[in-house]
Amino acid sequence: VRLSDFTFPGIPTRVVFGSGTLSQVGDEIVRLGHARALVLTTDGQAEAGQALADELGGLAVGTFAQAQMHTPVAVTARALEDVKGRDADCVVSLGGGSTVGLGKAIASRVGCGHVAVPTTYAGSEMTDILGETENGEKTTRRDASIRPDAVVYDVDLTLSLPVNLSVTSALNAAAHAVEGLYAPDANPITSLMSLEALAAFCDALPKLRDQPKDPDLRARLLYAAWLCSTVLGSVSMSLHHKLAHVLGGSFDMPHAETHAILLPHSAGFNAGGTELLDPVAELFGGSVGGGLWDLARRSGAPLRLADLGLREADLDRAASIALKNSYDNPRPFDEADIRDLLQAAWEGTRPA
Ligand code: NAD
Repeated sequence: VRLSDFTFPGIPTRVVFGSGTLSQVGDEIVRLGHARALVLTTDGQAEAGQALADELGGLAVGTFAQAQMHTPVAVTARALEDVKGRDADCVVSLGGGSTVGLGKAIASRVGCGHVAVPTTYAGSEMTDILGETENGEKTTRRDASIRPDAVVYDVDLTLSLPVNLSVTSALNAAAHAVEGLYAPDANPITSLMSLEALAAFCDALPKLRDQPKDPDLRARLLYAAWLCSTVLGSVSMSLHHKLAHVLGGSFDMPHAETHAILLPHSAGFNAGGTELLDPVAELFGGSVGGGLWDLARRSGAPLRLADLGLREADLDRAASIALKNSYDNPRPFDEADIRDLLQAAWEGTRPA
């Protein structure tokens, strides 16, 4: 943990964590002073959304089961019609980053309440970040009005998360922790959270395929995901998130898988430029990049961008887009460095 001057911004969001906590969503709505909730889900989680609305009884005014990846503005507009038509005073987003994103898009526009109930490890719920798409372009903004008012983590909801998505989603979360360690605005608390989360993933993730419904294992993973989301919502991100954004935004690569594949390579590269990742090397048997790659392989994560359908011919363009804007990173780089990093991630070779 770095002991230099720091600012701790606080953690503004109330959190309820446990097993069976879905039954406390109503209490959270009431605590916020609301009484008319619209429950948001994807189409695939519509049933779970309806069950929650039924359980909320008079506190729910209906469900909206059209949340989609990358928060399309057109979907938000339809949801807003529902919010107005049903006179809802808050939304409950039940799902992964896509559904939480829709909840943020609604709440930040009309100022209604937002209780997030995350069912993946992606980590949107504790942040003030919102990425939205319109006409094929993704724009990201950061604003306090985007943060959910309360987050209810229910371990039981993650038991049904398919193992492949669980693994890539957890590595997506791990990327927030890794980049949090060398963030220019890092502080001792976020660094503690990052290391605690990485230790939990290191131990628990390789066991998941054999015990996908083990409640203790799932609890540790969700706890780690909460820590990672808090780090993401507290400090700024660097090269890794930039590269994932470029591949997702310009090449339509799937979010969690792309993060999972890039992480060993981006973290391995940055380990060559900062001592702040030394505790991670210690945790992962001596090598940051190699250790994270081993964790991904032992957990059954995809290892090659080539397998996601990215063409080798696209790597030059991806590297050049990634160089367009400057951002803080612990290790300086040029286009050739990024091109090499992407090549290694495309081939899936183990970083040294
Ligand atoms: P997702 O929300 O798109 O979920 C993937 C699929 O899994 C969906 O069909 C969903 O319905 C289903 N699913 C989710 N939980 C399930 C469960 N427990 N059981 C069964 N099925 C389940 O994917 P994601 O990876 O969680 O989120 C990715 C999106 O979140 C991206 O658009 C990304 O940009 C965004 N994100 C934003 C932030 C932020 O701070 N703004 C942070 C992380 C991710």
